[in-house]
Amino acid sequence: MKDFTLISYRRLILALKDAGYAFLPRVEFANHQGEKVVCLRHDVDLRAANSLRTAQLEHELGVRATYYFRVVPESNQPDIIRAIADLGHEIGYHYEDMSIADGNVQAAYAHFCEQLAYFRTFYPVRTICMHGAPTSRYDGRDLWRTFDYHSLDITCEPYLDLDYARVFYLTDTGRSWDGYNVSVRDKIPVYQDEWIRRGLAFHSTEQIVNALRDEHSPLRLMSESVLITTHPQRWTDQSGLWLRELLLQSAKNVVKRLLIRLRK
Ligand SMILES: [Zn+2]
Repeated sequence: MKDFTLISYRRLILALKDAGYAFLPRVEFANHQGEKVVCLRHDVDLRAANSLRTAQLEHELGVRATYYFRVVPESNQPDIIRAIADLGHEIGYHYEDMSIADGNVQAAYAHFCEQLAYFRTFYPVRTICMHGAPTSRYDGRDLWRTFDYHSLDITCEPYLDLDYARVFYLTDTGRSWDGYNVSVRDKIPVYQDEWIRRGLAFHSTEQIVNALRDEHSPLRLMSESVLITTHPQRWTDQSGLWLRELLLQSAKNVVKRLLIRLRK
């Protein structure tokens, strides 16, 4: 079976539902860490139209998720942001202001505030999430060494505010569920090793679905909540786009491995 299609995504949601998970948008999730809840976080890096399809599917299944939009035109498409918000999903800001401002903290913060105000014209944004481009020299989170997003009525930044002792994290970065080896920034140090040791490591979506359907699997027996990040641009039933993502990501993973080796 082809992975990273809307068909496999639907199977994942249904398996989570059958396993008894409640679905919470990001803004509510933070207050329920350690409970049987799951948050579906979507980073709209590219091809915003794909995110609308994911959002419609979730809506059909009675599930609310969270969509993080970037300021770049491939992501920032007002009609799509509005349509996704209208389906009842949470909207947040996928920020990369440090890269845009080329490391100038003051300029980056001014840009952040401006863009936050812009996204708040669509939705009362309360959560943010860093866009971790592997090719950028800057870590977006460095902004928060100088400034405090809580003063802007932001309640949660997932890399900084979640307690990973109570939250198990899965991400499709690298177009697999075990891409932490090729990810420069989208990973949770220390806890990741512990999860692998406990058998909480998955490659394909079907492996997660099978674990969710097996009462004795480590995934079913764990006490953590679940945070799942996906990039909807790679989840598609259209063969051409699907193949393009597969080939593109394989090439990107080679480059990312190289980057990681260079940084060591
Ligand atoms: Zn991103």
